[in-house]
Amino acid sequence: MKNILILGSTGSIGKNTLEVIRNFPDRFKVAALTVNTRIDLLELQIDEFKPASVVVKDSILAETLRKSIGSKCEVLSGVEGLIGIAANMDYDIFVGAMVGFAGLAPTVEAIKRGKRIALANKETLVVGGELITSLSRKYNAEIIPVDSEHSAIYQCLAGEKINQVSKLILTASGGPFLNLDKKEFCNVTVKDALNHPNWKMGNKITIDSASMMNKGLEVIEARWLFGLTKEKIEVVIHPQSIIHSMVEFADGSIKAQLGMPDMRLPIQYALTYPERFENNYPKTDLKKIKNLSFIEPDLEKFECLKLAYDVLNSGGCSPIILNAANEVAVDRFLKGNITFSRIPYIIKKALDKVYLSARYNSNDLDSIFQYDKLTREYVLNLPAE
Ligand code: NAD
Ligand code: MG
Repeated sequence: MKNILILGSTGSIGKNTLEVIRNFPDRFKVAALTVNTRIDLLELQIDEFKPASVVVKDSILAETLRKSIGSKCEVLSGVEGLIGIAANMDYDIFVGAMVGFAGLAPTVEAIKRGKRIALANKETLVVGGELITSLSRKYNAEIIPVDSEHSAIYQCLAGEKINQVSKLILTASGGPFLNLDKKEFCNVTVKDALNHPNWKMGNKITIDSASMMNKGLEVIEARWLFGLTKEKIEVVIHPQSIIHSMVEFADGSIKAQLGMPDMRLPIQYALTYPERFENNYPKTDLKKIKNLSFIEPDLEKFECLKLAYDVLNSGGCSPIILNAANEVAVDRFLKGNITFSRIPYIIKKALDKVYLSARYNSNDLDSIFQYDKLTREYVLNLPAE
């Protein structure tokens, strides 16, 4: 029986993780759950999964929940609560299912305790790749990717030697604007951008998919997870999202992992690895799918993907700036404050202006926080037009 801590249990990955747990009641139980604000759904989750503790980031809502549930479970709050639960709670597997930079600090705590990290929160690796990978080696904490592309690569690499890999091939759906002219990017609505063709996900990652920043973040994530240079990480658009990614080896042989676009699969794999448990999720019927096609991504059109490659070149604190600027820009777009085409512009501005304004040490959490904060301040103050 494995005891699971889920950070972000009310999100898309969090709910899918609970569904996997629900399917294997003899194998998994919930140690603790954390959410940002959605206490209504959290209360239902408490009734069903009976965690010993929960954390609500918003302290006023935490108090409301405490009053409502009485002694059913301990209710903690704030960032201290999130970090504290990762650092002190009794659990076996840490599921990083929260969105954005906020996932970094709790993940560091879980790694320091040598826990298995089932990592969906890619922003953590984008901003802290060097720190996270060096700590995971030091404390012997295995990081099993939940992101479907990285899970696919992880599965393709089983039994292989990393020095015999010639390249990783990350597949991308291309998102809702694959066939839209770039000139139209300034006119797309939030609703258009949230209309992903294949995956149902949280708002932030869905906008990132529309701009292809999601694939850019994934290139950086792959760089850290698998320790390869950017020249060995290729992106190919595969609109059907059936091949989740591939690995090409020195002899030219390519291994691919296929499956339905269903996040329960990579989540289950990260929880059960190295075992595979039978389940009743819809299976892939290739006769029905018929076509698997591939297109080269247009980096002129999807500037965010190019910016992510640029950032891998420059290294240092630039991935932190890219990530923070993107988080703020996406939030501003979702609130109707800027156009979709403004997102890459804002990120470029931040990369130009924030870069030299503070000292940076990639292995120091405070330093990462400092750059994140500086960038957010800068980007929040940029005009909407
Ligand atoms: P989501 O918005 O649906 O859920 C986010 C969860 O995190 C919620 O439970 C929310 O309460 C919590 N949260 C948000 N901000 C927080 C904060 N500041 N402090 C504490 N908790 C906070 O997001 P999602 O789609 O589930 O994505 C989660 C992560 O997984 C992201 O990093 C995303 O890139 C990654 N991911 C998601 C998918 C997917 O299919 N949804 C696939 C691959 C990777
Ligand atoms: Mg992905």
